[in-house]
Amino acid sequence: MLSSLDVLEEILYHCIVGSCIAYLCINKNISSRKDSILFLLIGGFAGISPDITKELLNDNFCHSIWVAPIIGLIIALITRIFKSEIKLYRLWFSMTGAVIVGHLFMDYLDNGLPIFYPIIKNDYALDLVQKGDFFIGGILLIAVFISLALYRKMNVIILIGIIIVISYLGLRTFSKFEVHQELVKTYKGPNLKISIIPQDMFSEYQWFYLVSTDNTSITGTASFFKGLHEVTVNSK
Ligand SMILES: [Zn+2]
Repeated sequence: MLSSLDVLEEILYHCIVGSCIAYLCINKNISSRKDSILFLLIGGFAGISPDITKELLNDNFCHSIWVAPIIGLIIALITRIFKSEIKLYRLWFSMTGAVIVGHLFMDYLDNGLPIFYPIIKNDYALDLVQKGDFFIGGILLIAVFISLALYRKMNVIILIGIIIVISYLGLRTFSKFEVHQELVKTYKGPNLKISIIPQDMFSEYQWFYLVSTDNTSITGTASFFKGLHEVTVNSK
């Protein structure tokens, strides 16, 4: 069950990534701070839009890669009503980017989505960060605030925020790989099944693992720096 703080973090996570991507795609056509804020807000809306329709209609169509350009086009057409000086294809590219990176890719990084729905109904997930990862949302929010406050080199400051986020994802990928290798070495066996689930970046252990062999199941935690910490061992 998600708490209201989790829901807020989830909204921030998608909105802020959508804002940054939309802004970076369209910034050459923006000449005022007011327009920058407007496009950050519209990009934020594009970033969260697949979850709005999921809540309202309870289906997975808007989490599908095939539908993302249609959502991007609808938001671009609405934006064009009051920003007619910007070419439609630029708005479309920017809003589709906000939907794909701000939402679909971010869902793929956490606990997954049916990205090829309805052709393939399975969820695809990297399980690399927790849903609504606070570090990603926080870093990009700081970058957006600093860039708006200074109103100079906004695209560079936002790009620096994105580079920090990519480095963080790289660190988590490396750490998950290390934990996986360590588990394979520790619990050798022919039918080894391993699941590694992300935990909060700021908690003592950033991973929770579940290992299943022919005769035991082991759960535990692991951290970036301290290695594995076995919690329970159950015989089957
Ligand atoms: Zn979603």
